[in-house]
Amino acid sequence: MSKLNNKVAIVTGAAQGIGRGIALELARQGAKVALWDINADAVAAAAAALREEKLNATGYAVDVGQSAAVDEAFARIEQELGPVDVLVNNAGISRAAMIPKMTDEQWDDVIQINLTGFFYTTRAASRSMKERGGAMVNISSLAGQRGSIGQINYAAAKAGVIGLTKAAAKELARYKIRANCICPGLIETDMTGKVLSDEKLRAQYVGEIPLARVGLPLDIAQTVSFLASDESSFITGQVMGINGGAYI
Ligand code: NAP
Repeated sequence: MSKLNNKVAIVTGAAQGIGRGIALELARQGAKVALWDINADAVAAAAAALREEKLNATGYAVDVGQSAAVDEAFARIEQELGPVDVLVNNAGISRAAMIPKMTDEQWDDVIQINLTGFFYTTRAASRSMKERGGAMVNISSLAGQRGSIGQINYAAAKAGVIGLTKAAAKELARYKIRANCICPGLIETDMTGKVLSDEKLRAQYVGEIPLARVGLPLDIAQTVSFLASDESSFITGQVMGINGGAYI
């Protein structure tokens, strides 16, 4: 028996990168996975690739920054797959600029997707999980724990996700809904592709990581799978760094 057998799991931002890795791992552990992404074609292709492996996966085009779209998608998934057991808030964007040059739009876009979007999905999931309990796993960032140059919007949103997780954990524990947070360090995905394809920059970043490598989506996915499962039934409101020791 796999640890997420027949659980219904939503993973946002699942067309690529960390979200796709999480969706794959949850499906391998037996979950019925709803992959969400803003990019309809890409998420359909990602779900189809999982089905090729005989896994239970369905793609949905959902912009987590749109409140009504999130509520509609939850209603649709409850109808098509059943009540939601697991929510993984992963979708995120980066719009980097130094503080004097950051525009209102760059600030607003990142707060809307990386923080307000997490609230929309958390609210919808709390309604869906109230009767049966459930698990939420929120993807924050090392930047939310220690700040990051050129990313005041991103660091503020990711620090907000830590507060959002703790508040959700406290408020929703009475319904047996758990909420935990993961702060990835540097993980190899499209978001970090530009930095990591520069050999000099890559060596510099790796030099700051005690375990001397960048992370892979699987490094995050395996912990998400644990936090989504009943193996972690006494863990809630926690912040877990997965960063090769970059923040100790
Ligand atoms: P990624 O490769 O850029 O993938 C993110 C996915 O989310 C993309 O498919 C993206 O679509 C989608 N997305 C963007 N806006 C969305 C929206 N409004 N609604 C639904 N989906 C949306 O990023 P990643 O590196 O896998 O990062 C995943 C999460 O981990 C993010 O929250 C990120 O902040 C966090 N994180 C990443 C790292 C790292 O080193 N990679 C480190 C710490 C934290 P488009 O491509 O079309 O925008």
